[in-house]
Amino acid sequence: MSVNKAGQNDTMPVVDSEDIAQSVVRHLQQSLGVELDEAGPAEYWEALSLVVREIDLQRIRATRKKEREGKARRIYYLSLEFLVGRLLGNNLHNLGIFKETEKAMAKLGTPLVDILENESDPSLGNGGLGRLAACFMDSMTTLDMPAMGYGINYRFGLFRQSFAGGKQVETPDGWREDSFPWGIERAKRKQHVKLYGLVREHAGKAVWEDTQEVLGMPWDVPVTGYGTGTVNTLRLWESRAAHGFDLNSFDAGRYQDSRSQEISAENISQVLYPNDNHPAGKELRLIQQYFFVACSLADLIERYKRENSESLKNIADKVAIQLNDTHPAIAVAEFMRVLMDEENVVFSRALEVTREVFAYTNHTLLPEALEEWPQQLITKVLPRHMQIIHMINYHFLHSEVEAVWPGDDHMKRRLSIIEEPDRPGDDQMVRMAFLSVVGSHKVNGVAALHSRLVQEKLFPEFHHMWPEKIINVTNGVTPRRWLDYCNPELAALIDETIEGDWRKDLYKLGAMKAYADDPAFQKRFAAIKHDNKKHLAAVIKELCDVDVSPDAIFDVQIKRLHEYKRQQMNLLHIMALYRRLLDNPDLDVPPRVFIFGAKAAPGYKVAKTIIHAINRVAERVNNDRRIKDKLKVVFLPNYRVSLAEKIIPAADVSEQISTAGFEASGTGNMKFALNGALTVGTLDGANVEIAEEVGDDNIFIFGLTVEQVSELRHRGYNPRDIYNRSEELRSVIDWLDSGDLCPEEPEAFRPLVEALLDQGDYFLTMADYQAYSDAHERIAETWKKPELWWKMAITNSASMGKFSSDRSIQDYGKAIWNMS
Ligand SMILES: *Cc1c(COP(=O)(O)O)cnc(C)c1O
Repeated sequence: MSVNKAGQNDTMPVVDSEDIAQSVVRHLQQSLGVELDEAGPAEYWEALSLVVREIDLQRIRATRKKEREGKARRIYYLSLEFLVGRLLGNNLHNLGIFKETEKAMAKLGTPLVDILENESDPSLGNGGLGRLAACFMDSMTTLDMPAMGYGINYRFGLFRQSFAGGKQVETPDGWREDSFPWGIERAKRKQHVKLYGLVREHAGKAVWEDTQEVLGMPWDVPVTGYGTGTVNTLRLWESRAAHGFDLNSFDAGRYQDSRSQEISAENISQVLYPNDNHPAGKELRLIQQYFFVACSLADLIERYKRENSESLKNIADKVAIQLNDTHPAIAVAEFMRVLMDEENVVFSRALEVTREVFAYTNHTLLPEALEEWPQQLITKVLPRHMQIIHMINYHFLHSEVEAVWPGDDHMKRRLSIIEEPDRPGDDQMVRMAFLSVVGSHKVNGVAALHSRLVQEKLFPEFHHMWPEKIINVTNGVTPRRWLDYCNPELAALIDETIEGDWRKDLYKLGAMKAYADDPAFQKRFAAIKHDNKKHLAAVIKELCDVDVSPDAIFDVQIKRLHEYKRQQMNLLHIMALYRRLLDNPDLDVPPRVFIFGAKAAPGYKVAKTIIHAINRVAERVNNDRRIKDKLKVVFLPNYRVSLAEKIIPAADVSEQISTAGFEASGTGNMKFALNGALTVGTLDGANVEIAEEVGDDNIFIFGLTVEQVSELRHRGYNPRDIYNRSEELRSVIDWLDSGDLCPEEPEAFRPLVEALLDQGDYFLTMADYQAYSDAHERIAETWKKPELWWKMAITNSASMGKFSSDRSIQDYGKAIWNMS
């Protein structure tokens, strides 16, 4: 295929439908061995993916050549998760050949939409953190930044979710078992990683020996940018047995982990841990972290040496490494080890270089989510790294902390990277967040409020020591996937209406504000939403076998299931609405469909109970004729990127109702507003900035603020008081607890009821309930005034310029990566 015809500039491929059709047929026959008349959508999907891959590869080579010649500083984004979503449709869009491909496939007799449905989501992430990494790769590439993502090519990504009797059932997701044409093995770049063993001194030098060895094989996934020739690489490591990995010595009962956790070379990259905002603390997870970090650092150092110099003393001029949360934090110790043990750099200089290279993004304030590893475990798996962490800690405490708080041993204990146990005899724990802060030149939070809390509550002493270090970079989402690709009708309407390419500069959407109360524009905007709702209604019918009307309010909460995100508050309110309708079936309320999507970590009991309860309430409500279709509840199974792409364009209301102070940013909130949904939300995470951008009149804010939350806790909070005072809350909680919704297991919802009433309701569901219910009344009143509703919806979409991940990446470039 000719990617660049004579006379065309080299930013976009120039291919027409005829070229594409020919290439598809060629790949069907020559790559897949399938004849045209045998090909179905699955075969077409694979052939078409190979066509696009060919374009990508050609451009990757050009991109790398340009970068080698330009000798630019490269950004390396280290993340245990990349939730990239399906790649074919997105790549066609970014390459600007979607329309021509539609024509080509129509000629071949299979609609492109059907073909795209055959791609399984690479489920290499849990939720927001992994999706952020994917949006950032898209933006770095679109902005022509030399960037590379490093992660793990898990064989089994996040589990597949289904429901049995309303309960979550998990099955393994072997997402690349059939085929994954995007991943290309690059044996030439394989790495060897050492584990275990011990450290001896030879002639005054520490030597790490008697180690086990694992092989890391890289798989490269091309990342296309929009409207640019640049194609970057996401390099994902897979573990393999290497000579010297002695399985037998591992079976000898040396592990406290259960049998299913037995560690062999291959199973290091077998599974993604399914916890969101909660570390598993398992040996295999530490090994995963070190494995991918060691492979990635060795790989980028080799590249630096190839392109620049054998000496690493100026490596910071060419290399910036971003740590996506503390998951890759062991990289700080590994980089120090390489500098000191392999490159003979002295400790103090090694620490300087390390700090220039590294930066760390904090994603959570939840105390239980902050990673700590037992010192004993690190000593066993990575003995040299434990020594180096002690050296860093010693220097940090005795020269840097000492300089600010001379003689203050209490402060040294508070700030030590190695936490002393409360009780003597307990394990000392290594605080990975402290290691990340000490080893980095910048630390960022992910929304303005969150970053302030990182400065004031999480790391106040670090902030005092280094007032310039902790900064904010508000998250964003790529408008290519989250508007252009997932909502093509709205994208076309915007193109018709405003000047310039909002796909590259999302602030351009601001011009749409001028049309917010234009009746003709409102009509078209509303018609597109209605159309998207019809499509979603069909998906709901297929997945849940429930009929919903596109004329009802589609009220959506899709995100990981966690008590801090408060799906349980949404549930209590739905139960109350149902009871209000039963009391008065002629109640003048707009019909509503409540839509959920969420996976719960398999070990998270209360979260799974909430899923079960929502499904049982849904079943009851959906089958009750008395309420005349005024209320429906659906829980779509197996929430993931490809499902989000169908749900978000069809949403009227976006539920962003976390307890204030707990959601670091949220990015779902941004995707919804971009697609014209109205937010009902607390003043938490990026909701605060969304409210600033859209204006207070265009969002339904409710509930306690961060300050009010801490005042309430200070005063003493008793959820029972609220239960006793509120007739409505009492009736729905008693109903949950009565066994009526689950007669075969009457105690099924006890864990939820106990969390709310007996265990202090830590996430303040009861305290915020009334304000939440009132906010929903305001939503219902607004829905009755369509001109107002659509004005608000359009204003939301038009005000999302700030929340492009392009803006986030530009902020990182300026404030963290020192790019011009
Ligand atoms: C955007 C996204 C998330 C993050 O959603 P939040 O509401 O910000 O928690 C999680 N999962 C998927 C699949 C997403 O696309």
